[in-house]
Amino acid sequence: MKALKDLVRPNIWELSPYSSARDEYSGHTAHVFLDANENPYNHPFNRYPDPLQRELKKLVSKRKRVKEEQIFLGNGSDEAIDLIYRCFTRPQIDNVVAIEPTYGMYHVCADINDVEYRPVMLDDHFQMSAKKMLESCDRYTKVIWICSPNNPSGNLIDRDEIEKVLNTFDGIVVIDEAYSDFSSQTPFRYELNNYPHLIVLNTMSKAWGCAAIRLGMAFADKEIIQIFNKVKYPYNINQLTQEKAAEILSAPFEVDKWVKTLLQERSMMMAAFKMLPCCLHVYPTDANFFLAKMTDACGIYNYLVEKGIIVRNRHKVSLCGNCLRITRGTKNENEQLLSALRNMN
Ligand SMILES: *Cc1c(COP(=O)(O)O)cnc(C)c1O
Repeated sequence: MKALKDLVRPNIWELSPYSSARDEYSGHTAHVFLDANENPYNHPFNRYPDPLQRELKKLVSKRKRVKEEQIFLGNGSDEAIDLIYRCFTRPQIDNVVAIEPTYGMYHVCADINDVEYRPVMLDDHFQMSAKKMLESCDRYTKVIWICSPNNPSGNLIDRDEIEKVLNTFDGIVVIDEAYSDFSSQTPFRYELNNYPHLIVLNTMSKAWGCAAIRLGMAFADKEIIQIFNKVKYPYNINQLTQEKAAEILSAPFEVDKWVKTLLQERSMMMAAFKMLPCCLHVYPTDANFFLAKMTDACGIYNYLVEKGIIVRNRHKVSLCGNCLRITRGTKNENEQLLSALRNMN
C-alpha cells in the first residue's frame, strides 16, 4: 500500500490552509466577538457558522457509528466527490477507474478536473469483476469508484469482489453508500479501521428526506479527513443546514418509519410491474428505486410525461437499453403510476 503522501497531489500536501477567525478561536468561554468583521445585530444569523460543524458531527457520529474525526461534511455528496478529485488527482496526469454504469457525477467531476475517467463495464447482472477493475489500473490510477447499492441499477455490488479491490489496489477506494439505509447488508463505513485508504460516501438526500438542505458525508481515516478540511471552503456548511440536520438526526425514528414504509412499497411495486404487459424485466434492488426493462422506454416515458408523471429514462445508459428507473413515492403516487401504465394501449 502506498503512503498517503504519495497519493495526495503535491500542492495539496504542501498547502497552508486559510485560517478563519473561527479556526483561530474556537473555545466556549469568550462572550465578546470582535474578530470576524461580523455585524453584531441580527442574531443568530450574523455569526459565521462553525467551520468544522462540531456539534453536528457528534450527532452524525452517534447515528452512523463512525468517529467524529473520521467524518467530513459537504454541500451534498457532490462536494465530497469533487474534493476527492481536487485532493488526489493531478489534471492531465492521473486517472480514475469506475464501475459502468453508475452515478453520473464521478464522470462529470473527472471532466471538470481534466482527469482521465476509465469506465469498466459491469456484467449483465450489474455485477463488478474485481479482476477487470484492477486490470484497468496503471501507476497513474489514484482512485477507484464503486457505488453500492448502485445507481441506476439498484443492486448491491458483490461484497467479496469489493473486498478484493480493497485488498489489492494501492490507491484510494471510494464506496458510495448513498442508498445503504435501504439495504440490510452491513455498510462499509464500519470497515474504515481495516482500510486506511477507503472513503465511504453517505447523504441526507435519500432515506433522510433532506435533499433540499444539501448535506453529504464522507467517512475516512482521519488523515484523509484532515486533507479535505484544509481544501474545502472555510464555511462550506451553512448555519441553517447545520441546524436542520441536527434536528432530524436527533429524532431519527421518523426516518426509520419512512424507510420501512418505502421498503414495503418496494415489493408491492415490483410485483405489480412484473405483471404489466409493457414491462419485460424488473431488476433486483437494495435501494428506494428499481430499474425496469420495458418494451419501449422512450415511448412510455413520453406517455407518462403527458400524464404528469416523471420517471427517469435510462435508455441511453450502458447496459440499460429500454430501462426506466422508478423511484418509490407515496402509496398514492405509486398507484397513479401503475394505473397510468395499466391504461396504456
Ligand atoms: C443521489 C445520490 C447521491 C446524493 O448526492 P447529494 O449531492 O448528497 O444529494 C450520491 N450518490 C449517489 C450514487 C446518488 O444516487
